[in-house]
Amino acid sequence: ETPATPVVPLRAAVSALPAYVPGARVAPGGRAWKLSSNENPYPPLPSVIAAIAAAAEETNRYPDMYASELVKALAGEVGVPPEQVVVGNGSVAVLAHVLQAVVEHGDEVVFPWRSFEAYPIAVAVSGGTAVTVPLEHGTGRLDLPAMAAAVTPRTRVVLVCTPNNPTGPVVQADELDTFLAAVPGDVLVVVDEAYLEFVRDPKAPSGVDLLAAHPNVVLLRTLSKAYGLAGLRVGYAVAEPRLAAGIRAVSTPFGVSHVAQRAALASLEPGAKAELLERVDALVEERSRVTAALRGQGWELPESQANFVWFGLGQATMECAAQATAAGVLVRPFAGDGLRVSIGEPAANDAFLAVAASWR
Ligand code: PMP
Repeated sequence: ETPATPVVPLRAAVSALPAYVPGARVAPGGRAWKLSSNENPYPPLPSVIAAIAAAAEETNRYPDMYASELVKALAGEVGVPPEQVVVGNGSVAVLAHVLQAVVEHGDEVVFPWRSFEAYPIAVAVSGGTAVTVPLEHGTGRLDLPAMAAAVTPRTRVVLVCTPNNPTGPVVQADELDTFLAAVPGDVLVVVDEAYLEFVRDPKAPSGVDLLAAHPNVVLLRTLSKAYGLAGLRVGYAVAEPRLAAGIRAVSTPFGVSHVAQRAALASLEPGAKAELLERVDALVEERSRVTAALRGQGWELPESQANFVWFGLGQATMECAAQATAAGVLVRPFAGDGLRVSIGEPAANDAFLAVAASWR
């Protein structure tokens, strides 16, 4: 008998990883409305495209490793010194770096579920042990008291997603204050604010105030959603300086491309920023219109403060998603649980509203 050819084993945690299923990009029939990835439906501004084109001419050079100019601009936006900002290749990469900086093998990382599907993957890759806490029943809200109760002496990190992807509600400032008071100061609390700019609830927390009061808080933000740069991958963390230095130390060298840095800077120029935030206002209005129309159809929906809505369809999820695809509307199903639909341009939302009516 010939001995079996030896193969390189993968880390056990890597073999067991769930797949990150991206939102559908193309419909079987061709043209479709893409409401599957919480993207901004508006194309980049002409000034941003011009910055990208100019930067493209310099791509034989490495980018500025620490994206100093961009970090300075983002720090100015947030109102902290630049040493408290760390950028990365999308906030999903920044989250991985945050975990790498603090999680030792077997440390517990508490996070809500259902939430952003990258969380279990990032936690497993970091060597941490996932501890999931179910959302409040029926509302799609994070159950912060239950999350606080899940913290043990082995807990190193808690992830708080607000608004929660894929259900949409925000945590309230007072409940987050209570939560932070209950969690030991050596447990890192990552507040993922990917959809921050879409929030209109006056009771939502101010991330920056939280950080000032709690040095164990890290804010996670992105230019993928409100700023419409999903394709260029720019995200950032805001943390106290020592933590920020730790996150920077494990970050991928030159992780944000020169093109991405210049596009992000062009998007933060006052005129461009104002125009982009007007688009966000228009999307928020569309969210209100779509939500009201869906409630008029008889749907009970969580209170979304993000650029998507959630249908807790349970076992009907995949069938409803298939119907939407057949009608030319791409949505994001989570089998057996529910379906998330991004808020897009008005015509896309109208196409989706017709599909939702047909599900009833
Ligand atoms: N956090 C949450 C809650 C998200 O929904 C997303 C995008 N789906 C991200 C982070 C990551 O965004 P990006 O990597 O594009 O910055």
